[in-house]
Amino acid sequence: MTTIETSSALDLLEDRELLRELAFVNGEWVGADDGGTFEVRDPASGRVLAEVPVFGATETTRALDAAGAAFETWGTTLAKERAAILRRWADLMRDNSEDLSLILTAEQGKPLSESRGEVEYAASFLEWFGEEAKRVYGDVIPTPMEGRRIVVFKEPLGVTGGITPWNFPSAMVTRKCAPAVAAGNTMVLKPAEQTPLSALAVCVLAERAGLPPGVLNVVTTPAEKAQEVGETMTSDPRLRMLGFTGSTEVGKLLMKQCADTVTKVSLELGGNAPFIVFEDADLELALGAMQSCKYRNSGQTCISANRILVQESVHDEFVAMLTDYAAGLVVGSGTEEGSQIGPLIDQQGLDKVERHIANALESGAEIVVGGSPHDRGGLFFQPTVLTGVSPEMDMSCEETFGPVAGIIPFRTEEEAIAIANDTPYGLCAYFFTKDLARAWRVGEALEAGIVGLNTGFVSTEVAPFGGVKQSGIGREGSKYGIEEWVDTKYFTFAGL
Ligand code: ADP
Repeated sequence: MTTIETSSALDLLEDRELLRELAFVNGEWVGADDGGTFEVRDPASGRVLAEVPVFGATETTRALDAAGAAFETWGTTLAKERAAILRRWADLMRDNSEDLSLILTAEQGKPLSESRGEVEYAASFLEWFGEEAKRVYGDVIPTPMEGRRIVVFKEPLGVTGGITPWNFPSAMVTRKCAPAVAAGNTMVLKPAEQTPLSALAVCVLAERAGLPPGVLNVVTTPAEKAQEVGETMTSDPRLRMLGFTGSTEVGKLLMKQCADTVTKVSLELGGNAPFIVFEDADLELALGAMQSCKYRNSGQTCISANRILVQESVHDEFVAMLTDYAAGLVVGSGTEEGSQIGPLIDQQGLDKVERHIANALESGAEIVVGGSPHDRGGLFFQPTVLTGVSPEMDMSCEETFGPVAGIIPFRTEEEAIAIANDTPYGLCAYFFTKDLARAWRVGEALEAGIVGLNTGFVSTEVAPFGGVKQSGIGREGSKYGIEEWVDTKYFTFAGL
């Protein structure tokens, strides 16, 4: 990859202690046994930012040992005490928001304003699940038998695992470790190879908040060793639950591996979100939503609008509005003032975007704006709008993960719903209408775990996030989220 001269966000760090180049096991900062490291690069410049340890099976097993030992006391620590630590941890994330955002932008590339938003989102999971820790209620069930009592309580599972992606390097970490440790579990977490620095910074603050050693362990490894680390985690009989966010392909693999040990899984996998603009929609509102669910994070989110369906009678008007908007978006590195579209994460990501556009053009689509890598070079891509896209094209069947909007025209509500649901995925769906009856009809008909009506922004720690069909199993965030991380024990008293 070529190197572009820009200053690194890391040069601006106030507290350099937050930047770690070691893994975190049993409350200690450690390297690989053989001292091996791999590079973390700034996607905006291609420069090496840091080198972190290459962990394999031996080091990962040590992390599982630490988590196992820590569970002995953490599992029985009062919920109120766990809650207090999570609260301090959330506060520390907010106090250190600027530095955490700089680390996030440095390794991931998103505009600093978006990183600040993500850090707040990440902190919100620590706060929320700290509060939920105190509300993991059980039940008392009226007995059908004389001399008996039936009670139900929720228990932590034990050692848990987390595997997280690069697109939200801070929030995906806390969305897993916060409910896990709030409920009394311990965790071994493997962040994505592209973005381990945010996960390690979260550990620095966990330490400062007073999280005991071994409760959260972060193991780093490059792509070539992800499978080894994953297999070590899933084949260990002590691992009782795995929380994963990433591709459907890897999710299925991990689910298969977990079958051998009957380990619980919570999987947040790929999406293929439809974004339906009906003729009675407020078009300005729909256009505004395109920022949050199409161009945010350069389109690299699992809930990105991937198929933009626009009803024929408003098609040309909406395309014209969107074209103006996309043409005005500012492409730049995350620390540049006013930057709205950062680089893509890596060459593979850029190649996929180009492949999708080429496939669409071959099949009759047309570029209205953008369509090529940006003049800045490197991993920057132009905000793009294509018309004449059909549901069969690659970009309608797979996540593009780029700042590309492909417009699919439709005639009727039935047709829009049929196209929207014609996918193995079902994470998120958006639609725009002012008609109340249609709002209910379409909202109920869409096959998705999350539906946004007249908005492109659905992420909040208080709501359940997760998909149906091949987009996953389980929910993260909200009161439902903590349920994934506990077991139900039915305890019966007889002979009374
Ligand atoms: P993406 O395509 O978005 O990078 P992946 O599913 O490949 O999504 O990656 C998500 C996370 O899963 C990353 O932390 C990655 O290192 C990890 N991962 C990839 N392959 C495996 C595997 N075979 N076993 C365990 N983890 C894996």
